[in-house]
Amino acid sequence: MLLVGTGNLHKLEEISTVLNDLPVRTVGIEHLPPCEDVEETGVTFKENALIKAAYFSRMAAGLDPSERPRWVIADDSGLCVDALDGAPGVYSARFAGENCTFADNNRKLLDALEGVETAKRAAQFVCVICCVPVLGDASVEPEALFYSEGICPGHIALGEAGTGGFGYDPVFIEASTGRTFAELEAEQKNRLSHRGRALEHFRGEFASLTGS
Ligand code: IMP
Repeated sequence: MLLVGTGNLHKLEEISTVLNDLPVRTVGIEHLPPCEDVEETGVTFKENALIKAAYFSRMAAGLDPSERPRWVIADDSGLCVDALDGAPGVYSARFAGENCTFADNNRKLLDALEGVETAKRAAQFVCVICCVPVLGDASVEPEALFYSEGICPGHIALGEAGTGGFGYDPVFIEASTGRTFAELEAEQKNRLSHRGRALEHFRGEFASLTGS
């Protein structure tokens, strides 16, 4: 059993869809006792992915062995905008402040790029997935088994377009389609996105790990 460690239902939906043919059962955090919001104190995607994966792994360690997943994955992701020196980056979720909405973030981003021409609005979405084991002892901090990374190039739109997805999807124009993520079908986004690409790498690493 593999536990997908995220409280973000949009991410859970994307990850579960892409991994639906994995030869092990996947479960979400509803499989665990009530969890707290994990404080993302890292300064890189990798550090935050490990912090989240390790937290959920320790929560899973307390389960009865018959109910205990063997592995946990967590993703840390965000949008890096060249003209903003890579911001919002690891701070993507709280770009417009603590408890802000996706709409607040998109407004702040479009305002920050006001007057910047399209050629200078390059950006990339980054996703790092960390996979950790679930140990039998909740007091032991698990270490990463491996990381998988996915990057999706594009640029920031002049305004919002599309209704699908979540977060910065309406303002991120994916390079190969010229469409915002919010304008793509879910299946298309999953194939092209940073998360979809990281999950493809994950699939290979996980197959080697489990011998499947
Ligand atoms: P995390 O929970 O710290 O990884 O936060 C990721 C944040 O980056 C989300 O809250 C979104 O604002 C943004 N983000 C990550 N992936 C996506 C995506 O696929 N579409 C739109 N926004 C995303």
